[in-house]
Amino acid sequence: MAKSPAERKQEQRARQATAGDKKLELVLDNQELEMLAQNCAGRRPGREPYELYEYITTLIRIDNAQLNQQVAELNKRNCGRCGDQLPVTECCFRGENACWLTRGWHELKLKIPS
Ligand SMILES: [Zn+2]
Repeated sequence: MAKSPAERKQEQRARQATAGDKKLELVLDNQELEMLAQNCAGRRPGREPYELYEYITTLIRIDNAQLNQQVAELNKRNCGRCGDQLPVTECCFRGENACWLTRGWHELKLKIPS
């Protein structure tokens, strides 16, 4: 359900009041700031742009969902060298071509689409 600007503000205040939340300081360069402003507005055409916190926290949730999905897919496969279920985090064959840890981990890293 679409949230009204007032509801979104209220949610932000509620979030900020929650004990245990961690405040992060981000240093962004000019290009990133421009992208941020562009995306907050561009993802809500004709509506009030996303708040900065809302945009960033949603990205974190999106990436978490995506990572969980990727890991679930990887769980169906095994390392070609040691046979352990993927994703392998430790393997004595690391460095060998057949070991998933050598190159396979690239499947999980953050990638900027070209
Ligand atoms: Zn292995």
